[in-house]
Amino acid sequence: MPNARVIIICMKNKVLPDFYAAARAVLEEASVLCGEPIPLSECKIISPHKLNSLDFLPRSVMMIAAPYYSRAAEGSAQCRRTLSLYAVPRDYHIFFSELFAELRERLAPLYPGTKFACFADNSPIGEVAAASKAGLGMIGESGLLITKRFGSFVFLGEIISDIEVGNPGKTYDIKRCDGCGRCTAACPCECTDVADKKNRCLSALTQSKKDPDEETLELMRREGTVWGCDVCQLVCPYNENPEETPIQWFRRDLILAPTENGLAAMTDEEFRSRAFAWRGRSVIGRNLKALGGDEN
Ligand code: SF4
Ligand code: SF4
Repeated sequence: MPNARVIIICMKNKVLPDFYAAARAVLEEASVLCGEPIPLSECKIISPHKLNSLDFLPRSVMMIAAPYYSRAAEGSAQCRRTLSLYAVPRDYHIFFSELFAELRERLAPLYPGTKFACFADNSPIGEVAAASKAGLGMIGESGLLITKRFGSFVFLGEIISDIEVGNPGKTYDIKRCDGCGRCTAACPCECTDVADKKNRCLSALTQSKKDPDEETLELMRREGTVWGCDVCQLVCPYNENPEETPIQWFRRDLILAPTENGLAAMTDEEFRSRAFAWRGRSVIGRNLKALGGDEN
């Protein structure tokens, strides 16, 4: 682990690695990428209340990235994909919640003096910048983290703990892509930066409770999407040949193109296991209908 402080802790005659090294071992066993632990002071705090509600003083973060891309999720001429690639497997929140439960079960008894909390998606910090500082990759003009092996097809999460890391004077640099501009040039909504993405990105529009206007419907038809948008990822040269995820969880139970009949046949539990479920049945159902429904 380059530059990381490794403390050997002796407990009841057992020699344990430091907490983050032990967490890394569990996470890498699950094929999740781990960054170098960085001080929390290096991170932009975006939700202070989430940090304030912790029952410990947070001091450091280990960023993690779970790759999800598989060629099977791309679809084919016979089965055209209508979901963003991230939404084709089961919901990644479930993956992280199972992973974090295992991490807690294995590490909490060994490190009773260490307090930690795990986050994915609902993060208190700016994850992309923190992940780049932690050495996991560079920030693309698309606003996404781009890793060497898996491109931008990764889900980010983090372990925040009360451990102090880093040496005085150590710097943590953000790396950026070379700015070729392909992502912004290809964006169907002409988003030019991350702030734009929040307001008018097609991915956000397909997930909005607000019914799509005619312009959005036209974009959805043109891009062939009922949920999400991958255009800025697919045109990025760093995503030309990503490695497939070694995480079997993301290679099973794929749904490339949901149908109205298929949705109706899903139990609530099955429905809740999909990434498009967080807005309820009505939003994805509305989008399917808008694109012609099962007649299409
Ligand atoms: S996801 Fe699609 S709409 Fe959103 S910024 Fe990327 S290319 Fe543009
Ligand atoms: S398409 Fe070009 S500018 Fe956009 S993220 Fe990829 S390398 Fe950066």
